Amino acid sequence: MTAGSQNALARLVDLHCHTIFSDGLFTPEEVVERAHRLGLAAVGITDHDSLGGIDRALIVGCKLGIEVVPGVEMSCNADGVDVHVLGYYLDYKNPDVLQFFEQVQFHREKRARLMCERLGKLGVKVTMAQVKAVAKDAAIGRPHVAQAMLEAGVVASTEQAFREFIGYDGPAYAPKMKLSPEEAIGFIKQHGGVSVIAHPGTYHQDKAVYAAIAAGVDGIEVWHSDHGTREVAHYNELAQKNQLLMTGGSDCHGGRKNGHIYLGEVSIPYKYLAAIKRRSRRT
Ligand code: AMP
Ligand code: FE
Ligand code: FE
Ligand code: ZN
Repeated sequence: MTAGSQNALARLVDLHCHTIFSDGLFTPEEVVERAHRLGLAAVGITDHDSLGGIDRALIVGCKLGIEVVPGVEMSCNADGVDVHVLGYYLDYKNPDVLQFFEQVQFHREKRARLMCERLGKLGVKVTMAQVKAVAKDAAIGRPHVAQAMLEAGVVASTEQAFREFIGYDGPAYAPKMKLSPEEAIGFIKQHGGVSVIAHPGTYHQDKAVYAAIAAGVDGIEVWHSDHGTREVAHYNELAQKNQLLMTGGSDCHGGRKNGHIYLGEVSIPYKYLAAIKRRSRRT
């Protein structure tokens, strides 16, 4: 084996990152530049319900010589539990795909408005204009509402906003558009993508994981910042038993969580990305 091919095998990829097109704090350019500086061979752009950052990331990746993996993290709901499904290499320029995410984002905006109204009734004054000023071009999520609340001076921290108002059990919480993991998996497949059940260790039970497998999900996110050695071993075994792809990534939000960047901290050998690419019809 030559030194060159050894290097190729040792190259690492981080397949789960957010940008300002959802609730990340880095632009697509910053994510790619940082990933390149860390020496990663590839970086996945997986914004919540948005494909907006992909082209910008691809352009920088091309310039710097780092591979950019186009992706998305779709918000789903199974039996009242939020479940995320990652989609890699789906046809992100297809008009039907774009229209679908526009619809999801429109619903996210309506839902943020509803949360503002509920907050208002609780005497917590934050306007939709303030939320939009924070979110800019992003698919609007609770982190933007929390940030707007902080900037409006109605909470002392975004953590307090989640804890007291917009967490799952909070009095101003409103749910997102109802989409089942099965529907997301079908949508991703229909548009040439590879579907992966995201961070399964965070759902506290495997019901949604088994349902996703039954629905034909392509892979499991085995390695993730919220997975410990137990979860990694468990989902590694589950993936192998069901002959599924194994993926991993840091779920970097650019320091939104306690200023911790995460990027590259969960990175996996390139061979796992190569397997995803073989599965995809589009690469
Ligand atoms: P949404 O998709 O709008 O419901 O927002 C979910 C996002 O909010 C997650 O991806 C996290 O980034 C963030 N989040 C969820 N719960 C909390 C929490 N308790 N504190 C801070 N951020 C949170
Ligand atoms: Fe997030
Ligand atoms: Fe997620
Ligand atoms: Zn994520």
